[in-house]
Amino acid sequence: MTASELYRRALQVIPGGVNSPVRAMKAVGLEEPIFAARGEGAYLEDAEGRRYVDWVLSWGPLIFGHADPETVEAVVAAAREGTTFGTPTEREVELAEEIVAAVPSVEMVRLVSSGTEAAMTALRLARAATGREPFVRFAGGYHGHADPFLSEAGSGVKTLGIEAGGEGRVVPYNDLEAVERVIEGAACVFVEPVAGNMGVVPPADGFLEGLRRLCDETGTLLVFDEVITGFRIARGGAQERFGVLPDLTVLGKIVGGGLPLAAFGGRAELMERLAPAGDVYQAGTLSGNPLATAAGLSVLRRLTPEVYEELERKGRRLDALAAYGRFERVGAMASLFVDDYPALFRHLLERGIYVAPSQNEAMFLSTAHGEVEIDALIAAVEEFSA
Ligand code: PMP
Repeated sequence: MTASELYRRALQVIPGGVNSPVRAMKAVGLEEPIFAARGEGAYLEDAEGRRYVDWVLSWGPLIFGHADPETVEAVVAAAREGTTFGTPTEREVELAEEIVAAVPSVEMVRLVSSGTEAAMTALRLARAATGREPFVRFAGGYHGHADPFLSEAGSGVKTLGIEAGGEGRVVPYNDLEAVERVIEGAACVFVEPVAGNMGVVPPADGFLEGLRRLCDETGTLLVFDEVITGFRIARGGAQERFGVLPDLTVLGKIVGGGLPLAAFGGRAELMERLAPAGDVYQAGTLSGNPLATAAGLSVLRRLTPEVYEELERKGRRLDALAAYGRFERVGAMASLFVDDYPALFRHLLERGIYVAPSQNEAMFLSTAHGEVEIDALIAAVEEFSA
């Protein structure tokens, strides 16, 4: 079945034909999205059998690439024992221990199913812990699609130019003075420690340290949304890489090994405000799902220092892209900003290279991407720029 036929059917039964707006490709001038059939390593194959080097990687989770054999094996073995129980399992404890050991500020963690849920609950917890309602966040940031986070958000909200209602005192990223003006009385400051939803924007020197200081001075909680950066730019995420510790951390993507799992965590005394230990309610039928914990554990246990050295080495090779536009990279996440991004997207796609259909989304490296794939991307971008 061709993508056009699938898309026509999809449009009849799924709003806009996609289950997440960022998958639509109209913003880059394509009539229909890519319908994926299978993936292997750095490669994605579409429903018509075309193969692409995949720099999207399901928007970040696949640090070992598609259909990583060990992850698949772990999930299949777990599935044979039952796909969900709704009662605690050993692997949930193991995954929580793995996260606590890896992420410097996290002493306790709760497992949920999506980054949206994790961020939404971290905000609820911060509000309960401080007894304050307002909070501070940054324009172009994205923390999932819960109501409070939508106005001036990044990712698909920005790509589609949607202006939704939202809450929070929204200030420009990397602008500490703006934060200082609005932080008084806020429950928390919610921040992507490396912005990844308006393209990659690294934190300015002193920005994260400044947020920590302002939060300490005003009794405000600092929340790092590390859904993208967690286990990607270091095993312990941005907080390890930059040495600034938040009060609460939101995790997603890599932590679930490519299955629906996310988490939020922090100091024990804060986390124990959650029910049933405390009075802040949060729940989930599929929370800590056995297939997802199997995938997450399989991945996290293999994320050794050597993996990050390898990703950094490959990242440095990717830095050659800086010759063709503004290039930003922190570890295994990167963005190339060019004037006519839709044209670049189509140029690359025609050459079997799939990058995100919006400049607001980052490019992701996996261990499955080799020099061949990296050099092919650089050559194709050079050809585009010539
Ligand atoms: N926070 C950040 C920083 C994200 O990038 C995303 C998703 N890209 C989310 C939260 C929401 O996660 P999910 O899509 O799993 O709900």
